[in-house]
Amino acid sequence: MSTDTWRILAGGTDIYPSIGENELKTSFMDLTNVSSLKGITEDQFFWRIGALATWADLLKTKLPPAFDALKQAAREIGSIQIQNRATIVGNICNASPAADGVPPLMILDAGIELTSINGLREVALKDFITGNREIARDKNEIVSCIKVPKIDLGSRSVFKKLGVRKYLVISITMVALKLSIGESGTIKRATLAVGACSAVAKRLLELEYLLEGKTTAEAGDLINDTYLADLTPITDVRATANYRKVATKILIQRSISSFENRNQDG
Ligand SMILES: Cc1cc2nc3c(=O)[nH]c(=O)nc-3n(C[C@H](O)[C@H](O)[C@H](O)COP(=O)(O)OP(=O)(O)OC[C@H]3O[C@@H](n4cnc5c(N)ncnc54)[C@H](O)[C@@H]3O)c2cc1C
Repeated sequence: MSTDTWRILAGGTDIYPSIGENELKTSFMDLTNVSSLKGITEDQFFWRIGALATWADLLKTKLPPAFDALKQAAREIGSIQIQNRATIVGNICNASPAADGVPPLMILDAGIELTSINGLREVALKDFITGNREIARDKNEIVSCIKVPKIDLGSRSVFKKLGVRKYLVISITMVALKLSIGESGTIKRATLAVGACSAVAKRLLELEYLLEGKTTAEAGDLINDTYLADLTPITDVRATANYRKVATKILIQRSISSFENRNQDG
């Protein structure tokens, strides 16, 4: 595995289309039958999303409210057939700027567990994806699971994605937002990440800070371009850079307003 000629194969829904009709030049390590990599489990401190857990597995698992954004992303990944086959870890390792799984996992402060003959190590998701299709994985490592710490998981979260149509579509922009709202109706904590508007999805930390202490009704009006300055959207066949920024602002406002009238204290 430490040679360059191996690729890890999970659901194959990114790998096979990328090969197309080209000749196969690499060998594949198919993880399909490694039972220890299957399923979603928990212990006292973490939820673990195994390397072979599919989007459909995620939807079938009873999880705390903070996972709602990830579940919403799961419902919008490709089609039912893709959700049955594709893994969440594969989505992260493929490291597309438009990978729908990344923002919802960023707002959960997810970590990536890597396994090799030398043992285990863990990297924060924000440090694991280092660029467009680039990850911090050594040649002899596989990702064994995604770890989500059991912190602030009672807060609700939402995911909103914009594409040129509702299903089977690559995101133009996407937003994942987790809000903890106190009894007074003000936001106690906000965690927000945007995808498809930079090489790697980004948390908007200044905006998170701005939202704290505001009601959801007040918060929507405060979003302006200053808080989106960290985003570096590109112009491509799907949208112009400016359209992406405008759409992102609207998705953030809609995400915030979707918390109105929700009775929660997380
Ligand atoms: C029709 C269609 C629609 C799609 N729609 C969407 C969509 O709406 N949103 C979206 O985000 N994506 C979409 N995708 C992309 C794809 O389905 C997802 O990214 C999927 O989650 C990838 O998982 P996989 O198991 O199929 O990965 P694979 O194709 O098996 O692998 C993807 C990459 O990850 C690496 N990898 C996989 N597992 C590991 C591991 N354990 N350790 C290290 N490296 C690993 C592989 O080597 C490869 O580089 C779509 C794909 C298709 C074909």
